[in-house]
Amino acid sequence: MEYTLKKSKGKHIALVIKDGKLTVRVPHGTTQSSIDQFIQQKIDWINHNLEKTKLSNFSQHVLEYNQTFLNGNLVNIVAMDTGLEYKFGILYINKNYTTKSQIIRWAKDIANNTLRMELDRLSQFTGLNYTKFSLTSARTKWGSCDTKNRIMLNFRLIMLPQILQTYVILHELCHTKHHNHSTDFWKQVQSFCPNYKQLKQEIKKWSQINKLY
Ligand SMILES: [Zn+2]
Repeated sequence: MEYTLKKSKGKHIALVIKDGKLTVRVPHGTTQSSIDQFIQQKIDWINHNLEKTKLSNFSQHVLEYNQTFLNGNLVNIVAMDTGLEYKFGILYINKNYTTKSQIIRWAKDIANNTLRMELDRLSQFTGLNYTKFSLTSARTKWGSCDTKNRIMLNFRLIMLPQILQTYVILHELCHTKHHNHSTDFWKQVQSFCPNYKQLKQEIKKWSQINKLY
């Protein structure tokens, strides 16, 4: 657990989380072992809140394109002389091109494979058939399904946690039966995705991604 330590005049250890970073304020004379113990006791609360502030307000690293996301996890970006390559959680980019354009190229490439595969898998699982898949760069939607049951998915979806990708794909597959947001539509979504209401809320936190890329 990474954190910044600050001395305080208070009587108790206090935790402050801001912009995805943890600060531990400790009274004078606090031992390292009691700090460790305190953090251990609060670990669930810390992780939960770190995640929340990270998502509602992306870190400077993400905003400056020094980091990006894959399946909801942070990916570090390293500029090299060589071409675009993703290995062990690091995206190596070519320093002769803009970082943003290369992140987009990488994300589209992964999205084209993994979203297509996931769409096929979920189509078989649900028995709901689509006619055509394509990627979209539109910033206003995560996905869409037209009256001919052609499904389009936002390439930035691969940056989101997989559970949210699954939710969007299931949502669009259900539109092949109900081309609206009727009660029957949501009932069908719920039959495949019982916690869809929670996921609908969670995906809102990621809308900023559409402005970044
Ligand atoms: Zn819809």
